Amino acid sequence: MPLHDAGMVVRSACAVAVLFAGALLSAQRPSTWRCKNVLAKDGASWMQDVVVTTILDHVISVKPAEPGEPVDTDFGDAYMIPGLIDLHTHLLLRPYDQVTWDEQVRTESNELRAIRAGTHALQTLRAGFVAVRELGTEGAGAADVALKEALAEGLVRGPMVFASTRAIARRGCYGPDPEDPTTKKGAQMVEGVDEIRAAVRAQAALGADWIKVYADYRHGSKGAVAPTFSRDELVALCDEAAKCKLPVAAHATTDEGIRNAVEASVRTIEHGAGASEATLSRMKAKGIVLVPCLAANEAIVRYAGHRGPIVERLNAAKAGFQRALAAGVTIACGSDAGVFAHGENVRELELMVEYGMTPEQALRAATSTAAAVLGRTDLGHIGARQSGLVVLTADPLRDITALRSVRAVIREGDERWGPR
Ligand SMILES: [Zn+2]
Repeated sequence: MPLHDAGMVVRSACAVAVLFAGALLSAQRPSTWRCKNVLAKDGASWMQDVVVTTILDHVISVKPAEPGEPVDTDFGDAYMIPGLIDLHTHLLLRPYDQVTWDEQVRTESNELRAIRAGTHALQTLRAGFVAVRELGTEGAGAADVALKEALAEGLVRGPMVFASTRAIARRGCYGPDPEDPTTKKGAQMVEGVDEIRAAVRAQAALGADWIKVYADYRHGSKGAVAPTFSRDELVALCDEAAKCKLPVAAHATTDEGIRNAVEASVRTIEHGAGASEATLSRMKAKGIVLVPCLAANEAIVRYAGHRGPIVERLNAAKAGFQRALAAGVTIACGSDAGVFAHGENVRELELMVEYGMTPEQALRAATSTAAAVLGRTDLGHIGARQSGLVVLTADPLRDITALRSVRAVIREGDERWGPR
């Protein structure tokens, strides 16, 4: 994956701040953490008896323990992995079985939703996730950018946030009340190339790190799911995003919608269950990553009481995931948390394994693969400076549900949480 250009720009623009941070780092006493099993960079094996040194939230060194070496904290025979990454979250939403999506967008104030998002962020961090890609505030403007700033200021605790602000949908093809253009909507509604380009620029100006587009969706409130934008319109959207140095994530579930987004060169396809073999081979050839959001499907079917035609969604999601896996498409972890409870993000990895990945593949989907999608070499493996450290009491390469045995999450200095 090429480096994310926008990150490069930010880094060079912040050279002075980095120098200052360097001075701050050297003034801090390092913390040392010893652990019997530390996940190696290959994501497939354990380094034995290791001391990891951190200063603030930076990993400084990873070395074999010397005999009798004193450390600040000894985790004994636990398992240490890098912080996990979820590429598809909605911190501005809460589970739909508490309040439906429609009700949240229609009636809850953006201010209340933003404050609640702070709690959701902490729940996510405590579950071992140190970075999330927020794919749409669903009507709450650029509250994800505000949350990102609040996290940077230390006002709230949570994962690193990659924001996308409002998301872009075609007029008439997103709720609430798709047919009524006068009511509040869950995305920025546009039509035609000029409006598409203007929306991309507006969202970039709000602070988006990614552009999220709905490449297909229900037409009206009762219509079938079908492509929203034409291929040319998606090409224009990706072109404008590229001018703003922003990558694009496309929600798409139909083969045609996915194909349009793939040919327009988005970076990731969200959901993607309907991709044909031909489309999957184009995705693979172009290095476009699938983010399947399996956990959200499971939650929606559960909320429906496992009754009615919606149950078919589970089978379709499972079959689509298995076709993509067999086709060799790169698959990364994105759960769509917000549809279901924040902090339950690991469910995505459990389902990936249930549907055919090895635990090692699933873990990689939430670490090194996800870091590559974000274009961040400082995330995704222990030794990467901002990876964070997650200490588990059981071995996740043997049993992926061990990811629920969080004993500590180390990020931002010596702060630790767990056991839950
Ligand atoms: Zn979503």
